[in-house]
Amino acid sequence: MKVTVVGSGISGKSLALLSKKLGYDVFVTEREEIDSDTRDLYRKKGILWEEKGHTNKMLNCDLVVLSSGISPKSLPVEMAKNAGVPIQGELDFVFPYLIGKIIGVTGTNGKSTTSALIAHLLSKLGYKTALAGNFGFPLADFAKQDLDFIAAEISSFQLHWANRFSCHIAVVTNICPDHLDWHGSFNAYVESKKRIKDLLSSDGYCIYQNKDRELLGTNGCRGAVLRWASDCSKGKCEEQDEIILHDSEAYLRTESRDIKLFSYSILPLYGRHNVENAAMAMAAVYYLGCDAERTSHLLSDFKNLPHRCEKVGEKRGITFIDDSKGTNVASSITAITSIPGTKVIILGGKGKGEQYDELAKAVKAHARGAVLLGAEKEAISEALERAGFRNYLLVSSMEEAVYCAFNMACPGDIVLLSPACTSWDMYKNYHERGEDFKRIVKTIVEANSVKN
Ligand code: ADP
Repeated sequence: MKVTVVGSGISGKSLALLSKKLGYDVFVTEREEIDSDTRDLYRKKGILWEEKGHTNKMLNCDLVVLSSGISPKSLPVEMAKNAGVPIQGELDFVFPYLIGKIIGVTGTNGKSTTSALIAHLLSKLGYKTALAGNFGFPLADFAKQDLDFIAAEISSFQLHWANRFSCHIAVVTNICPDHLDWHGSFNAYVESKKRIKDLLSSDGYCIYQNKDRELLGTNGCRGAVLRWASDCSKGKCEEQDEIILHDSEAYLRTESRDIKLFSYSILPLYGRHNVENAAMAMAAVYYLGCDAERTSHLLSDFKNLPHRCEKVGEKRGITFIDDSKGTNVASSITAITSIPGTKVIILGGKGKGEQYDELAKAVKAHARGAVLLGAEKEAISEALERAGFRNYLLVSSMEEAVYCAFNMACPGDIVLLSPACTSWDMYKNYHERGEDFKRIVKTIVEANSVKN
């Protein structure tokens, strides 16, 4: 059998290597240039490729496999459809080769943190556990590995193409507008997210927020609905268990009893959003058969993935926080409102078709100043003007942004990089953007300590 893999990024490369291992003839087609290390690897493995565009060569196959993020409107998808070649997404292609129960974590924000929390708890409990996601460990890397559990961060792009993939537990952290440019509309985005419910195994559990109940249409699913005890806006959910978040403790209310999940004081993470992430993770682990009491203390030594509200330096009483992963409006509002203290926020990058008025209101309420960069800086400045917030600067590089933010900040303030946009106008990805921020912060911290 001949397979063509579309895309030669991290997930595409992993799919190509898996296909080869499975004994297929493999061809990779990539819109951009392929880096020399990857070309060497393909040569060594006997994988053929084309780069800087897609030609009819990619159609000489029995199956086209799409790496993560390939749009249904992209040229290779159109070419395959026109030629009548079957198309499969990453999840469906890899699924038959996965060993172990799958916990699929999707949602607009908090996917990586929640899947990392689940993997952390299960590993600490002694299970052979993999953490898979778009942060560097694609699902195909874990094919044919003897695992008890796979905690998988799953994007709306992957779900769009999924039909035969199945998970034992589905977690939907929250749903807010995101990736509207890719999906075309909020409705289409929600439709993709909803697919996770259809992909649940018959004995599976779904965990999601009470506020998203109608959007997801979860009637008939077994599992738990999360709500804050103070939030009485929606009635009690009769069918499912409830995760109830009180002022300082989280509980799972089942038909027979209330189970304490954890006290917030144990959590080494900022903010209400991380309480939600941890509560969902604890409920998932409970449904996998782990005793909550025996598990909750394991939360205390969880280390989050980098670039998510990560403290990266301190100088003259000013703290620098890297939230480069704040790539949509909802995540940056979360960071601004949940991290305690007055902020000078660095915003901007490549937009996803979102409006910035809600963000501007949060900036006005929680920030001393804002520094704007990237393709969306004008659009964000217009929203700040509409909100009546004028203490902002427009800059043209990250270096300028960090120095300006440092100068605007007062002792006790936080310089927060949480751009509300992707990095793709200036960087390869959010990781590169976060690393650049850290590098500049380091020069500020070190230069000042020499002068002092
Ligand atoms: P994802 O993988 O969905 O992009 P991450 O766990 O990487 O989410 O978190 C990215 C950013 O989103 C965080 O730095 C934080 O600002 C915000 N965030 C995380 N969890 C939540 C949540 N439960 N609700 C809202 N925002 C969140």
